Amino acid sequence: MPTFVWTDKCDGCKGGEVTACMYICPNNLMKLDTERMKAFNQEPEQCWECQCCVKACPQQAIEVRAYQDVVPMGGACIPLRTDQAIMWTIKFRDGEVKRFKFPVRTTPVGSIDPYGNKPEAGNLDDNLLFTESGKELPVISS
Ligand code: SF4
Ligand code: SF4
Repeated sequence: MPTFVWTDKCDGCKGGEVTACMYICPNNLMKLDTERMKAFNQEPEQCWECQCCVKACPQQAIEVRAYQDVVPMGGACIPLRTDQAIMWTIKFRDGEVKRFKFPVRTTPVGSIDPYGNKPEAGNLDDNLLFTESGKELPVISS
């Protein structure tokens, strides 16, 4: 089931040109109504329910309408993400609330060098991947 926005919580990412939900959606579905400064899912039937926008929203304004066999009517799963952890607030339909917190990383923010220990990129015109630079291609005989 697609996402929807609680308009009372959404602040339009305080007027930023590209909101967090617009930036993160891999399907380009989230849009900002610039008159009301409220975001909305412009094509709900295309939503993958990947939860990226739900986790990225700094106001916890987006929810995925969950399937009724998983989250019965009145229940909700709401994430709150920080640099170090994500906390899921689970609301049961009888009003009970439980929270589960999980770490999301084991290294300090900004400490990862994605190109560390990798060779320099080589000639862009050859057929080798950059991790294959300098290696000889196997000879395939016909
Ligand atoms: S990320 Fe959240 S607060 Fe920002 S525009 Fe989207 S729904 Fe609104
Ligand atoms: S749940 Fe995923 S696909 Fe759906 S609007 Fe959010 S980011 Fe886009």
